[in-house]
Amino acid sequence: LPEYAFIGRSNVGKSSLINMLTERKSLAKISGRPGKTQLINHFKINGNWFLVDLPGYGYARVSKKNKKTFQKYITDYFVKRTQLVSAFVLVDIRHTPQKIDLEFMEYLGENRIPFSIVFTKADKLNAKTIEKNVAVYLKELLLGAWEEAPRHFITSSSKNIGRDELLSYIDLINQQFYKENQ
Ligand code: GDP
Repeated sequence: LPEYAFIGRSNVGKSSLINMLTERKSLAKISGRPGKTQLINHFKINGNWFLVDLPGYGYARVSKKNKKTFQKYITDYFVKRTQLVSAFVLVDIRHTPQKIDLEFMEYLGENRIPFSIVFTKADKLNAKTIEKNVAVYLKELLLGAWEEAPRHFITSSSKNIGRDELLSYIDLINQQFYKENQ
């Protein structure tokens, strides 16, 4: 089944977002294969796609060794990624662009992995500040090697914002995926 991977720095709100997206959806959680660690979780949604929950990167309070292990899981996933259609990189809408996120997006770009940005915790800011922060973020990206800004979504898991938009988008690219792979 086609996969859509969700990733971001720890504490960005990934678990909350995944809960929001999977709520009320016919879903089955399929955790890592037996014998493997449970760092990467797969959620089957509507019977036709997998939401892949990747470990958060940039943990502040874990050892270097653990950090390496997480990174290895993440890069291994992306290297093997036979079913991956698109990644969703989560960033906290309150923060200025962080080096680790920009570097990660660069990595995706270099490896030709399509991705969108999901801004989280939008309930914490007013509309004007959201608009400003998004503009700053996209501008920063366009100053890098990007010709075109990636698609972005503004979400809040606590206020249930952005859920339908994100799910409709995934549905749409999923339909395209099935058409192309008939
Ligand atoms: P993860 O480490 O990326 O999985 O992040 P979590 O989903 O565990 O969230 C980290 C913290 O941010 C928790 O305290 C959440 O309650 C909070 N949080 C997550 N999403 C939102 C949101 O949309 N709005 C607000 N206000 N807080 C959020």
